[in-house]
Amino acid sequence: MIRSTIPPLDPIDIDAVVAGEKRLSRDEAMQLYRHASLHDLGRWAHAVCERVHGPDIRTFVKDRNINYTNVCTARCTFCAFRRDGGEADAYTLSRDELHQKVRELVDKGGTQVLLQGGMHPDLPVAFYEDLLSDLKAAFPQVHIHGFSPPEIVEFVGLFEMEGFPVAAPGKSGQMPEEVWVAKLDAILGRLRAAGLDSVPGGGGEIFAEHVRRRIGLGKADGRQWLEVMAAAHRQGMLTSATMMFGHIEGVTDRIDHMDRVRTYQDRAIEHNWPGRYVSFISWPFQRENTPLGRVPDWDASSGEPFPGDVLADAVEQGAIDAHDKDACNTTSPLAGKLVRMAGAVDYLRTQAISRLYLDNIHSIGASWVTMGPRIGQLGLFYGANDMGSIMMEENVVSAAGTTYCLDEEVLCHLIRSSGFTPAQRDNAYRILRVYNGEDSPDLRVSDWSRHRAAVLHKQTPGDIETQVSLTITDSDDG
Ligand code: SF4
Repeated sequence: MIRSTIPPLDPIDIDAVVAGEKRLSRDEAMQLYRHASLHDLGRWAHAVCERVHGPDIRTFVKDRNINYTNVCTARCTFCAFRRDGGEADAYTLSRDELHQKVRELVDKGGTQVLLQGGMHPDLPVAFYEDLLSDLKAAFPQVHIHGFSPPEIVEFVGLFEMEGFPVAAPGKSGQMPEEVWVAKLDAILGRLRAAGLDSVPGGGGEIFAEHVRRRIGLGKADGRQWLEVMAAAHRQGMLTSATMMFGHIEGVTDRIDHMDRVRTYQDRAIEHNWPGRYVSFISWPFQRENTPLGRVPDWDASSGEPFPGDVLADAVEQGAIDAHDKDACNTTSPLAGKLVRMAGAVDYLRTQAISRLYLDNIHSIGASWVTMGPRIGQLGLFYGANDMGSIMMEENVVSAAGTTYCLDEEVLCHLIRSSGFTPAQRDNAYRILRVYNGEDSPDLRVSDWSRHRAAVLHKQTPGDIETQVSLTITDSDDG
């Protein structure tokens, strides 16, 4: 029997939730967020994690995040990575640059490449097919985890393909629904035939319309994002889901985001589609160098409710339609004009609730790169079973100020010193190697001064130099 901090007036059978016998409702998840103690949330989420993954093994993947271009038609207010095509530091990697990066990955024992870019307006479908088939021919053993849903939504608008219309950047959703879905299916089929293995969950941010239209200018909306993943699932591809929180959204928006992922996963299971979401990763917004980061902070001591909560709760209660911009502005005039950054406690609460809520998702990733390795380590006791990826560069999150970067030895040490055994996994979360022998990377280190955190590699034009050591970051940002 687990004693609970939930108010007795509104009891939740948390024992049944932890045992996997009962599903949390949206209201119950909100109740937990608002009233349960951090310690209780951690206990419950950890118990679910142990039920799903056992008490011993905690995983990571060795991959490399390659951002093939930073040219992007969208203007997300939280992004410091994008460039217009004409800017001096805009780039698109050449075939040789791309292959050199993958070769370095393979030389260091990596198994996967995370291939994501901006939404480039001028690259045709043949560019992506050639890129994938070339990579597969040269490195058949490397799993290609590529193209987040916003990129694929842009492909649907921009690619010239026989029998399908084209649309202006950011306007693919204006096609008739059945045409949009048919073109989406055709594009995913072609990319898959060329070598695409799975689809990363970048660009999830917050799905709620009243949040997304303020922060993701010119980018896929929440429904399009989810429909891309549903199409990938129908075609047998595994995907991940992400959430970037701690900005203008209300807490209800976070639960709504998780609920949409859970509902779409239910659909995939119900239809017995061969693909699924295999993981969920959430991380707090990083503000440096971004337009959204310059928005003033909400003053929690003002006694006024956070405007994002006011708007989110009005939408949740059906008082206003999230698509009605006037109603949103009238209901909460300051929504979107103040940010509420997430600290470590908020991060751990949110991650723990994601483990309790997403009962149909296999893995929860600890997003330590934005909060620091020690908080990431704590994340293993708040529902996470996976420490993300060891990889050799990252450009998107690091452009917004994140500098945490560790090597394989430290990552294994973080897992082991938390009381678990580190293990390398693949994209489907199958265990490739358990690090329990004396030859484990962390157990061979005698001088830890050589394994300090470092600044992540940042891609610059014409620069294909890379760090010598493997570094870690979240695997599905962007
Ligand atoms: S987050 Fe991605 S889609 Fe948005 S502006 Fe940056 S590169 Fe473009």
